[in-house]
Amino acid sequence: MNEFGLYLHVPFCRQKCFYCDFASYAGAEHLFTAYTAALCQQIAEQGGLLCKPAVDTIYIGGGTPSLLPVQLLTQIMTALDRSFSIQREAEISMEANPGTVTKNQLTVLKAAGINRLSFGVQSFNDSLLARLGRIHQTADTLAALDYAYRAGFTNISIDLMYGLPGQRAEGFARELEQAAALETAHLSVYGLKLEAGTPFCSAYDQGLLALPDEIAEEAMYDLMVEVLPGQGLRRYEISNFARPGRECRHNLKYWHYQPYLGLGAAAHSFVNGERTSAVPAIEEYIRAIKAGSSPVIMREKLTRAQAIAEYIFLALRTTQGLKAADFTRQFHLDFFIHFAHTFNELRQQKLLATNGRRVWLTDKGMKFSNLVFAAFIDDH
Ligand code: SF4
Repeated sequence: MNEFGLYLHVPFCRQKCFYCDFASYAGAEHLFTAYTAALCQQIAEQGGLLCKPAVDTIYIGGGTPSLLPVQLLTQIMTALDRSFSIQREAEISMEANPGTVTKNQLTVLKAAGINRLSFGVQSFNDSLLARLGRIHQTADTLAALDYAYRAGFTNISIDLMYGLPGQRAEGFARELEQAAALETAHLSVYGLKLEAGTPFCSAYDQGLLALPDEIAEEAMYDLMVEVLPGQGLRRYEISNFARPGRECRHNLKYWHYQPYLGLGAAAHSFVNGERTSAVPAIEEYIRAIKAGSSPVIMREKLTRAQAIAEYIFLALRTTQGLKAADFTRQFHLDFFIHFAHTFNELRQQKLLATNGRRVWLTDKGMKFSNLVFAAFIDDH
């Protein structure tokens, strides 16, 4: 296997945000040490199994990795260094919650090799942050960024959300300006989605949560697309904006259909056309690793049809779009012939554009990307 991306999942959070359905748990601090030991064991085993393979991107996500004590995070970095051949220019990202970082911690993590931070900022409006169940306020965000810059990080990303309860387009415009003014290298912007089983979802079902209507949400989306490029943040994926050369290389692997290995509870992998995911419950994960058994609970070899649909779906998420030659190399199919009908229809609707070698979503296509993806799935 060539260089691949490595994802490590840290499933701890100080408290659960009201909208979140990620595999993360609050009140599990007593498992920090045992979980880290299990994760380091899995890193050593997988690295050994693959003969210390080369990796050029590592992404420590969660949950809230920055909640782990710094000595446990450095243990993880040491384990990675021992068992994987981390390339010199590797991008090593860690997600962080602005309410959980200190300057000392970030300085140690920078020295341990982490070179990119992704802060879950979500909003610069303290009452919205409280409404979301976030543990931090805007003052924490500003302090966290200050600590990060002073610790020597230059590759910093922040996440923002829109479509939040009570949020208005004018307020979101100010938040976008505020985010851009921080001059971080990267910005991810997501619309709120109601996920089944979350407190937000049940409040909404009971009529207790008022969300912006479709028109207001669309206005916020339009603002995102208008404001950020004017501030030097180029859109390179539906929800992601970066300054030149600061695109997230790890996430690009997902969109470019490249292999990645996920370690830890709930982690997903994609290797040799097979998707797997690990057990999400922390204690079950620890038990499995300790017992020497696999934590994988789902294994799925993609059918050819699934692989083609997924390839198209992922490639079209990026502004670069789908390269016809790469598609042919991967599937021995001519994209323009095989999908002639769907492609022509979507092009007539001004959702897709092409120069004969690449196909990409137009601005309208980005906005209504779900329609485009559904059309390709139906066609297939
Ligand atoms: S901090 Fe992130 S992972 Fe944790 S509960 Fe909130 S949204 Fe979910």
